[in-house]
Amino acid sequence: MSEQGKVWFVGAGPGDPDLITVKGRDLIARADAILYAGSLVQQAATQWAPPGCLIGDSKDMTLEQICAWLIAQARPGKTVIRLQTGDPGLYGALIEMVQPLDAVGVTVEVVPGVSSAFAAMAAAVESLTLPEVTQTVILSRVEGRTPMPGGEALRDLASHRATLCLFLSITLLTTVERELKAAGYRDDTPVLVVHKASWPGEQQIIRGTLADIRQRCRDARINSQAMIVVSPTLGARHWPTLTKSKLYDATFSHRFRRAERGQAEETS
Ligand code: SAH
Repeated sequence: MSEQGKVWFVGAGPGDPDLITVKGRDLIARADAILYAGSLVQQAATQWAPPGCLIGDSKDMTLEQICAWLIAQARPGKTVIRLQTGDPGLYGALIEMVQPLDAVGVTVEVVPGVSSAFAAMAAAVESLTLPEVTQTVILSRVEGRTPMPGGEALRDLASHRATLCLFLSITLLTTVERELKAAGYRDDTPVLVVHKASWPGEQQIIRGTLADIRQRCRDARINSQAMIVVSPTLGARHWPTLTKSKLYDATFSHRFRRAERGQAEETS
């Protein structure tokens, strides 16, 4: 049997070309062919790719055309990369592209990336989790043309009062508002919207409430490439009292440190 080629699915990170992983950048630096997904990752591709590397934009391609392109390039000894925004496993049509490659025997490897959910919270100096506030993060979206599976309507997910990071939903803020109100969220619930998180010179951070976030986004002309975060942790930087993490508590022992006093506990 002849040797088969290989395609790397690489997470490019949220936009700042410096936020790709070292592994991803090293692969790009020796790439023979890169097919990137839209303007968000163009810079990382062109900035780190070697001269002579074939670089394609999949913006106008169908799934079949994308797979055909990758399969045609994936010859033995070649480094072929499918470069995607954030992490390839989040709203990245990853499996749809992997199956046709599997079918023709092309090897696949995935390199994770920094998701825009993390970049948005980092931009705003916010934490996704806080002790005794929420220890859970829900990455989701509201229903647009892609239907939501049963039990995943935003009003159901919101009943947990956990951190909600909503992708692909900035044009659906009316729905976000309606669903959260149906789940009992008040008008003054803080909402964070980050547009083009991490993009040098283009990032916008909008803070508002459930009642006014839509107008604030409209005023800022934000209608794409935005992360919506609704979380009981928002604004914690300015809270006068905070329940601190046990990890750094002097009375709390864990694998790497013994407690100064009090009962020792294990944590991982
Ligand atoms: N795989 C990507 C998500 C792709 S879906 C990831 O892990 O981030 C596209 C959606 O991601 C956009 O609609 C937007 O909600 C979000 N997004 C991607 N890049 C972003 C950025 N730099 N800032 C804010 N949101 C972003």
